[in-house]
Amino acid sequence: MTTTHTTVRRAPDAPALITDGDLPPLRHFVDGKFLDGSTDALIDVVDPSTENVVARVPEGTAEDIDLAVAAAVRAKAGWARLVPKARSEVLHAVADRVAEHAEPLARLESANTGKPLAVSRDDVGMTVDTFRFMAGAVRATTSMAAGDYAEDHLSVILREPLGVIGVITPWNYPLLMAAWKIAPVLAAGNTLVLKPSEQTPLTTLKFAELVADLLPPGVLNIVNGYGGTAGARLAEHPDVNMIALTGSVHGGRAVARAAAESLKRVHLELGGKAPVLVFEDADLTAAASALRVAGFWNSGQECGAACRVLVHESVAERFVEQLVGEVSDLVVGEPGAGEDVEVGPMVSKAHFDRVTGYLERAAKDGVRVATGGGPLDGPGYFVAPTVLVDVPEGAEVAREEVFGPVVTVETFADEEEAVRRANDVPLGLSASVWTENARRSHAIAARLDFGTVWVNSHLVLAGEVPWGGFKGSGYGRDLSIYALDDYSRTKHVMHNHGR
Ligand code: NAD
Repeated sequence: MTTTHTTVRRAPDAPALITDGDLPPLRHFVDGKFLDGSTDALIDVVDPSTENVVARVPEGTAEDIDLAVAAAVRAKAGWARLVPKARSEVLHAVADRVAEHAEPLARLESANTGKPLAVSRDDVGMTVDTFRFMAGAVRATTSMAAGDYAEDHLSVILREPLGVIGVITPWNYPLLMAAWKIAPVLAAGNTLVLKPSEQTPLTTLKFAELVADLLPPGVLNIVNGYGGTAGARLAEHPDVNMIALTGSVHGGRAVARAAAESLKRVHLELGGKAPVLVFEDADLTAAASALRVAGFWNSGQECGAACRVLVHESVAERFVEQLVGEVSDLVVGEPGAGEDVEVGPMVSKAHFDRVTGYLERAAKDGVRVATGGGPLDGPGYFVAPTVLVDVPEGAEVAREEVFGPVVTVETFADEEEAVRRANDVPLGLSASVWTENARRSHAIAARLDFGTVWVNSHLVLAGEVPWGGFKGSGYGRDLSIYALDDYSRTKHVMHNHGR
């Protein structure tokens, strides 16, 4: 395996990102209070840029989940009864509280995930915006007009909460993915039990600590623990009306299977493998500089990452040269090592092994390393920002989600081949098309089997527009009024007023 000369910037003399005083209570949050778990077992929470254990949280059990679900059940009638304005005011207060604590939250997120501070700050900013958007949207949502659709019968359509929602979040955006669920779930009038990733519970617990006095007890509950135990119990629990997971395809399948018994609704935001179609008329410089961010944001641990370039063969050489220029000077480092750090470590040793495993196998398959290509010196789980070229059609590294700082480049001869190959993956979360030809961009966007398609851009999100995938990337939508719909049910009430 080729390695690179990139070095990891360290921060030996920088002040620590957090002190013990910045940690949240390391317990479960149930019925408005922080509680110990039903066992003494603990889970180590590791800073992946130093490999140090920064905290230990209780390992939740089925019993802990049951306690939290019971609290959410008790709270649901009171919360559902509030008019939209009242719920909206609570969500605005939550947004204000998070905004007031933005910097310590960002530092805590970086201490747990290793992500650059710029990424954590962006996460916190979008968390605030998600609560503000949902606070406004819930007051503006409407349904079809009441009216007589059958003779002498007045139809009224009510939008109701579903009840108790189980939420399971991943490690790549711990606070932000929690916000993407909590805000619409609460706005729509539901209560919830959330299980954060066992690797990254700290900002979710901190969030609970910060907003505890703003929410009635039992409306928001958090239980730490592993997917196979606490998560599985949440998915199967008969009193949970819907289970929403952001995570891997494997986790999504397990949750959907567990949910089948009680026929609860399922909302899945799973993996991605975003193709980036670069045509011969594209602005190559703009595309290469956009990929510097979109391919390596959050160290490539991003479900919408621009990780699979398909470039027209006539411009491939020029494009690769520009892309390698961008990627080879990315700043890799610990989050405390400077405001300009762009790439941090992989979140865990297991994930580092997974990513480097893909690189080792790609090398054996004859894929050529244009820059990067392997691990960087520890401590910490750092991988060099990598561009792989001469990637044959169907290569594992170009079909499966690597979820690290790795971009592959394939070439195509014409539009038909570009679309066929772009769609030939089991995942369908997002894609981008780079061309100056508007007719082409419209036609191609329509043919791509992905839930989001950007034209001359990649990884730009907004609270007003939906996010979610097709095919193996799951179903259900985060953000926007579509998320509010997902966490609501419609009821038709028909009055016979004939005389
Ligand atoms: P993961 O599936 O391993 O874990 C996600 C969560 O699911 C964790 O809390 C875990 O404990 C839980 N879990 C795992 N197995 C479970 C089971 N059998 N029953 C119940 N819960 C279970 O995924 P991860 O590695 O933490 O996250 C990375 C994945 O998330 C990537 O595939 C990424 O693409 C995806 N992701 C998708 C989006 C999106 O919006 N589509 C956003 C972020 C991450």
